[in-house]
Amino acid sequence: MRSAFDTTPVWRFLPLAVTLAAVAPLSAQQAETAVETRDVPALIDVAAMDSTLLLDMRYARPENFLGRAVYDAARCLLVPDAARRLLEAERTLRAEGYRLIVWDCYRPLSVQREMWRILPDPDYVADPARGSRHNRGAAVDVGLAALDGSAVPLPTAHDDFTPLAHRDATDLPAEAIEDRERLGKAMSEAGWIPLPTEWWHFDAPGWESYPLRDDPLSSAASP
Ligand SMILES: [Zn+2]
Repeated sequence: MRSAFDTTPVWRFLPLAVTLAAVAPLSAQQAETAVETRDVPALIDVAAMDSTLLLDMRYARPENFLGRAVYDAARCLLVPDAARRLLEAERTLRAEGYRLIVWDCYRPLSVQREMWRILPDPDYVADPARGSRHNRGAAVDVGLAALDGSAVPLPTAHDDFTPLAHRDATDLPAEAIEDRERLGKAMSEAGWIPLPTEWWHFDAPGWESYPLRDDPLSSAASP
C-alpha cells in the first residue's frame, strides 16, 4: 500500500539548490528569491495517515485563549517530516499505555496576524512579522491522554501562560510532572525540540528551512 509520503514531492528543490551552489555561491538577494520560489513540501493531513489520532484543535472552536474560533477547519496539517515524527511519538506513547492529544499544528500566517491583532503581546503570540514555527507547518502543541482518550494529570491547560507551564516547573503534582516528562521524552526521541516556556509546544528539527505559509486549513493539501 502506498503511504502518504509516496505521493508527496518532498524536497524536490534540493537537487536544484545543490546544482546552483556548485556553480556559484548565491548572493543574499538571489538566495532569498530561491527560497521564495523553491518547491516546498505539501502539507500532510496527519489524521488521514492515522485515523485514531486524538485531535482537539483548540483554535477551530471558541474555547481558546482568544475566546473565538480562528481556524476554518479542525485539521492537523504538517510538513511530511514533522507528520512522520508526530506519529512516531504517538507509537512510542501507545506502547506505554498513553496517546497524544493534539491541540495545534500548522497555523496560516493570516491567522497569526489576527491573533496578533487580538492580543499584540509577544509573551503570548508570535509577532506575525517574524512568524510562528506553526506558520511553517513545523510545530505542534500536544498533550497526553489515556488510551481511551480520557484526561490524565498534566501541568496546566493548553495555552496557560503561567510559570507552571514552564518545562522546569516543579510546584506541581508528581503525576503531572511524570506525564510532562513522559511526553517530552517520547517527543524528543522522535526528534522534536521542546520549548522551555510551554510544556506542550515542540518544534520539528530543521523548522527554519520551511517557509512561512498561508494556505487555508480547509483547502491545504492532504494525502
Ligand atoms: Zn505552539
